[in-house]
Amino acid sequence: MPMIEPQRIQALNDAPVARDRRCVLYWMQASQRAGSNHALEHACRQADELKLPVVVCFALTDDYPDANERHYAFMLEGLTETAAQLEQRGVRFVLRRGRPPEVVADLAEKAALIICDAAYLRHQRQWRRQVARTADCRVERVEADVVVPVAVVSDKTEYAARTIRPRHRRHWERFLTPLEQAGPRRDSLAMRLDGLPPDDSAALLARLDIDRSVQRTDHYHGGTRRARQRLKAFVRDALGRYVDERSDPSLGVASRLSAYLHFGQIAPVEIACAVRDADVPEPAKEAYLEELLIRRELAVNFAFHNPQYDRWRGLPSWARATLEAHKSDARPAVYTFAQLEAGDTHDAYWNAAMREMVVTGAMHNTMRMYWGKKIIEWTRSPRTAFRWMRTLNNRYFLDGRDPSSYANVGWCFGLHDRPWAERDVFGTVRYMSAGGLERKYDIDSYVRQCAAL
Ligand SMILES: Cc1cc2nc3c(=O)[nH]c(=O)nc-3n(C[C@H](O)[C@H](O)[C@H](O)COP(=O)(O)OP(=O)(O)OC[C@H]3O[C@@H](n4cnc5c(N)ncnc54)[C@H](O)[C@@H]3O)c2cc1C
Repeated sequence: MPMIEPQRIQALNDAPVARDRRCVLYWMQASQRAGSNHALEHACRQADELKLPVVVCFALTDDYPDANERHYAFMLEGLTETAAQLEQRGVRFVLRRGRPPEVVADLAEKAALIICDAAYLRHQRQWRRQVARTADCRVERVEADVVVPVAVVSDKTEYAARTIRPRHRRHWERFLTPLEQAGPRRDSLAMRLDGLPPDDSAALLARLDIDRSVQRTDHYHGGTRRARQRLKAFVRDALGRYVDERSDPSLGVASRLSAYLHFGQIAPVEIACAVRDADVPEPAKEAYLEELLIRRELAVNFAFHNPQYDRWRGLPSWARATLEAHKSDARPAVYTFAQLEAGDTHDAYWNAAMREMVVTGAMHNTMRMYWGKKIIEWTRSPRTAFRWMRTLNNRYFLDGRDPSSYANVGWCFGLHDRPWAERDVFGTVRYMSAGGLERKYDIDSYVRQCAAL
């Protein structure tokens, strides 16, 4: 069986494996799936070596940063399916309400070894540090939600896609391998461990005390099965057209997998292998892998290496300076946060994009760029625009609250980009116009589609 690349695995403490304990515990947080999950497979292989069963736990917090009912509903649909799939593998899934470090600490006394998956945002890294500090057995972290482990690619914040691309690509052959599933040999289903029944996502959602200001969306439902169906349909029907048509918002030629990736319901390695092996011309594969591997993992590089990834100070200094120098420039229009959130501006294209976001929880990539640039243009200061854009992004997008959220909001403000010709409001940060949308795309068709949502 192919081994799990050792560079994916890192010990988080110096404690020994406690061989006299009852199980190997996999604390699932970011990689919420039962298949193609390097962290879970590592737990199974270690458990087989130690002649122990595997238990998987998940901590359900009511106050996960910036999460609301829309996000919880999608996540719980996925977790319900994951619980059932783990049961088929003879693995007990323990779902408990509480802060992750506390839930894990409570189960740790039964664990010979604790495995966790990797995640890159501030609070996720703090949780892992706390688990490693308090556990009296070995804790290991496995990177399952990137194709190339973040520290293998680079030891610093990369400047742009062009600088990370060669560093990333040289590892593709080694890390682009499908993960084989085996074991665990010992069953943990009979282990007596308290937990919430994980089989009814609607009942779980109802009992949580969460922010319910944003409703769930019927346009996307969570889970690995749905992610795989979407991947299969995309490769069959749309991948071949990705190069020429993906930028036109009226055509919808995109995989729409980002929310599934965000919740770890599908592995990037699985998607990348399916695309690499597809029977379509090379340029289509290249274009898709550029987004999934280079752009997505550039965002991970940014969140991992830049402690200010979600703050104004995290933007490049040239971009902050030019935007600040133009902050008193007259704006063509100035809107309040409420007007923006309501999609109540003079611009029918922008309002349509906002409607797509609020109703469906997603937005076409071209429109995300336009949406962000216009928030800068119509807000009284660049710092306010930054705050509002980050808030709207994370409140409505199912794929929000992700390294890609912070890197792309940052992109609107010059991150991972270069200076352009100087103009009002934007200084030398790149600008986008409605005229560009009209010239290149059937933008009226996009507006009609959003009105019909
Ligand atoms: C202002 C703005 C905000 C954004 N906010 C988010 C966000 O909150 N979460 C998020 O995941 N993406 C965000 N993006 C990036 C991109 O728009 C989405 O990832 C993409 O539209 C998701 O749709 P898809 O899965 O159909 O993409 P596809 O075109 O099918 O691309 C395949 C995958 O590649 C990755 N990808 C594509 N474009 C990018 C990109 N620019 N940066 C990083 N990864 C990319 C995604 O994981 C995506 O699922 C944002 C872009 C902008 C300009």
